[in-house]
Amino acid sequence: MNPFHWWGRWRLRRALARHPLPAAEWHRLTGGIGCLHGLSAEEKARLRERVAVFLEHKTLNGVQGLELTRTMRLQIAAQACLPILNLGLDYYAGWHEVVVYPDSFRVRHPISDDSGVVSEHEQILSGEAWQQGPLILAWSDIQRDLDHHEPGSNVIIHEFAHKLDMLNGRANGMPPLHADMQPKAWSDTLSAAYQALQDRLEHHQRAGINPYGATSPAEFFAVLSEYFFTAPHQLLHDCPEVYHQLRQYYRQDPLARLNHEARVQ
Ligand SMILES: [Zn+2]
Repeated sequence: MNPFHWWGRWRLRRALARHPLPAAEWHRLTGGIGCLHGLSAEEKARLRERVAVFLEHKTLNGVQGLELTRTMRLQIAAQACLPILNLGLDYYAGWHEVVVYPDSFRVRHPISDDSGVVSEHEQILSGEAWQQGPLILAWSDIQRDLDHHEPGSNVIIHEFAHKLDMLNGRANGMPPLHADMQPKAWSDTLSAAYQALQDRLEHHQRAGINPYGATSPAEFFAVLSEYFFTAPHQLLHDCPEVYHQLRQYYRQDPLARLNHEARVQ
């Protein structure tokens, strides 16, 4: 027997024993999260396994007085594990902590300009991902996404997409691709879509996707990932080649499963 396969099964069994998820609770939870709609029974079972291993290996800490309930932890874990449903939890290796603020938080980062001057740059953020460090979220924004299911908005998917992007160094909009993908096709497709978004904004045209994606290639990938999982029809309509690249990368087709769900209802 492959020892790594054995180790994986043992790790999974231990995680499931330590983080039991009764079927009724799991059903209620996934039913209330828009981006999980359409998952097949088999995909939901796999997601449940991923959630157990995620909770076993990551520490979720509320700060500034925020008490994270069991439901809140599960809501975070379930959405965090959607992007890696068919990739595996090793894609979130190398860091351990998720920090959750009650509300959007203020951060100051030093930035240096070309002349070497470093100044403080202050921002209000709903999430942040540090390379090899914690991932930071604001519960108020998570709750907003849960309540409103706004197409193209999911702060958890956004921040975890940054973590995937950081697997091969600084976040730059190009995570390590699979062997059956072509880096040039990814780069050409996303660059063209990024440029098109910049052009539309410059000419004050309707942007289609969230203008925040035009901030940098890293933000573009994170924003595209939000659309891929929460508004796949819109992404396919606006940028079909981008949808195809993300479908290859995430090894999922959220639009196909939503269409399937609509057919069987
Ligand atoms: Zn971001």
